[in-house]
Amino acid sequence: MTEKKVALVTGASRGIGKSCALELAKAGYDVAISYAGNEEAANKTLEELKALGSNAKAYKFNIADREACQKAAEDVLKDFGKIDVLVNNAGITRDGLFMRMSAENWEAVINTNLNSAFYMTSSVIKTMVKQRYGCIINMSSIVGLMGNAGQANYSAAKAGLIGFTKSLAKELGSRNIRVNAIAPGFIQTDMTKDLDTEKIAEHIPLKRLGQPEDIAKTVKFLADDGLYITGQVIGVDGGLVV
Ligand code: NDP
Repeated sequence: MTEKKVALVTGASRGIGKSCALELAKAGYDVAISYAGNEEAANKTLEELKALGSNAKAYKFNIADREACQKAAEDVLKDFGKIDVLVNNAGITRDGLFMRMSAENWEAVINTNLNSAFYMTSSVIKTMVKQRYGCIINMSSIVGLMGNAGQANYSAAKAGLIGFTKSLAKELGSRNIRVNAIAPGFIQTDMTKDLDTEKIAEHIPLKRLGQPEDIAKTVKFLADDGLYITGQVIGVDGGLVV
């Protein structure tokens, strides 16, 4: 078993998850990353993680599939021996006005963005309880706090993650397991590439969109430094929600 701390970051082939994985690797973690199907991006992330000295491995599975999540968590535990930090990050959007929202788009977002956190967390929680240490970080969104026209499915999932975070923090604190959520604002990734960034920036007090690194540094802080922080929703949004 490795003596280094181990992090599992879901949806880490690209965007915010990738940046979180790299930041944790820089902090000395071995890192397991998950992805849906973008082999090329996952391999590139793996290379970068290994170049940082991390004993990294990638796992391809559908985060919306409970059995696949359980199997992947078992594989990670077999390969790394433990999981200290779980970042439930993988997510999608299927935007559309509610009047026209299909059940398919509702379910896809709830399964991928909310149920996945249940599947992954329930698959690793026993090992965290046993080791009497754990840090779980759920990637919510400002939209989970504010709502957003055209994102009823997404905001419901992200708000759900906040309730999940607070309840788990209360249940698991006595086992030295901290559970927090991050609520990013607009972060420049593939997910936001079609937005009018200049127009959005005008409404942000810090006058810019966030970068994945802005979120990654908060993840690293929660993992290593914020040892008395649990049950919180940390806004990383340039002041958009105040
Ligand atoms: P990206 O679209 O850039 O990356 C999404 C990641 O999730 C990829 O690694 C992708 O894998 C993976 N993924 C998607 N669907 C699945 C699935 N079914 N099973 C397994 N993995 C999957 O997203 P971001 O980096 O922008 O977002 C990351 C998280 O942050 C999400 O939860 C998002 O909701 C949240 N967030 C993002 C904001 C933003 O402005 N970008 C704002 C607020 C919250 P692959 O590469 O294989 O497709």
